[in-house]
Amino acid sequence: MTLYTLDLFIDGTDRTPSQGRYADGFDPRTGRVISKVALGDAQDVALAVSAAQRAFPAWRDMRPLARGRLLTQAALTIRAQASELATIEARETGKSLPQALGEIEGVAQYFELYGGLATALQGETIGLGSGYHAYTRREPYGVVGAILPWNAPLNQAGRACAPALAAGNTVVVKPSEATSGSVLALARLLLDCGVPAGVFNVITGLGPEAGEALVRHPDVRKVAFTGSLRAGQLIGRIAADRILPLTLELGGKSPDIVFADADLSQAAPGVLKGFLTHAGQVCLAGTRILVERSIHDTFVVELKQAMTAYRIGEADSTIGPMTTLAQFEKVQAYYAIAQAEGAVAEVGGHLPQDPALAGGWFVSPTLYTGVDNGMRIAREEVFGPVACVIPFDDEAHAISIANDTDYGLAAGIWTRDLARAHRVASQLEAGQIYVNEYMAGGVETPLGGYKQSGYGREKGLEALHHYTHLKCVTVRL
Ligand code: NAD
Repeated sequence: MTLYTLDLFIDGTDRTPSQGRYADGFDPRTGRVISKVALGDAQDVALAVSAAQRAFPAWRDMRPLARGRLLTQAALTIRAQASELATIEARETGKSLPQALGEIEGVAQYFELYGGLATALQGETIGLGSGYHAYTRREPYGVVGAILPWNAPLNQAGRACAPALAAGNTVVVKPSEATSGSVLALARLLLDCGVPAGVFNVITGLGPEAGEALVRHPDVRKVAFTGSLRAGQLIGRIAADRILPLTLELGGKSPDIVFADADLSQAAPGVLKGFLTHAGQVCLAGTRILVERSIHDTFVVELKQAMTAYRIGEADSTIGPMTTLAQFEKVQAYYAIAQAEGAVAEVGGHLPQDPALAGGWFVSPTLYTGVDNGMRIAREEVFGPVACVIPFDDEAHAISIANDTDYGLAAGIWTRDLARAHRVASQLEAGQIYVNEYMAGGVETPLGGYKQSGYGREKGLEALHHYTHLKCVTVRL
């Protein structure tokens, strides 16, 4: 197979990295090298930021209706090219084509939503009595840096960048070194749709080089980071010195609570979808399944039965490979940790045995029982298709286990009692609560974390405000 090369995209053109260095890109289904990915560094970041800065005044001053129209045009083009974009995304992440297509429809929707909302950024007048006229303006920051992970690269690029662009900012994106192809394709697509050169730039490369240089660059005025807690903390320290506004979308260890009065025929497949989608490589994954004690045993049997429908490895199956070798190794480490802690693997707990999968970074969907919420398997994010079932006695007990975590990204509730659903939802410490459908919602619903899952919000109208300064003008009449 011929290797393809992914270069940087600066000021509307492909550019080779200043030091001429490239890293290998892999096919996670086989572990083979399929691409060469440019390793951008601080010098390349400086070029991209300077291009974004030059493009900023004209983009900011464009009538919002016209800016929004360009983004809406991008949405239409993304839909028209969904199959090509999904092919790149599926190849680099290992996810199935249907899954990739679903996420790319989400990208189109981000551009559609924020294209339409570009005119909704409005100020207010504030009454100060006679003699004064006071009003607010929402103004873009300037150059925004977006640093992205590898699990849903294009979707996360749309999520972070569409609102930033709609608000009049220009952008430099640093995708994950493992999955840069689809974000580069988006950059070309935006240019073709009439988004001026320099408005959307891509620096591929490593986090500690390209990513850190972006956060340190004095002309980057805001950073949206999606990724691990560890990297979020590193970026947060740099940002603290610079007083740089951040949006941090980090990890999770989300509870999915099943009450005895739930419709279990819906809850069992719903709970599985909550932690097996994209082989568990989803920040929102519901990996702590809290089950009311009276139905614990029967529900575990239902989950085990329903898990047999999940096939590993086939190109259209949900359980594709881990996207990176490091993630493949991390899941295996957690199999060992859970075993050492005494958890019982009801399903999985080891690598798949099928020789046809050898070479690829495939792991088995895994369900543990006999887990206490204090065990590492219940506290640490695995980011693979691994969940544990923990029994609870009553509503208060469920809430206390659910909130006993350092994270706070999402939580699920399965019940037929809607009063209980709202009561429990109000007490859970998480940014997203799903009742009777895990990961329900759309581009319109705001997303973000409590506690160590991060701060700031993406998606919905809320995200637009995170990409603007609020200025207040007061005039003595
Ligand atoms: P990661 O933190 O290793 O990498 C994310 C990005 O940050 C990559 O582009 C990487 O190159 C860059 N990076 C790494 N170190 C850096 C540094 N020192 N300075 C600047 N940039 C740096 O995360 P990952 O392994 O790519 O992704 C998995 C993690 O992302 C999981 O924890 C998952 O929960 C989280 N995630 C969160 C969300 C959300 O919306 N909350 C969505 C998807 C993934």
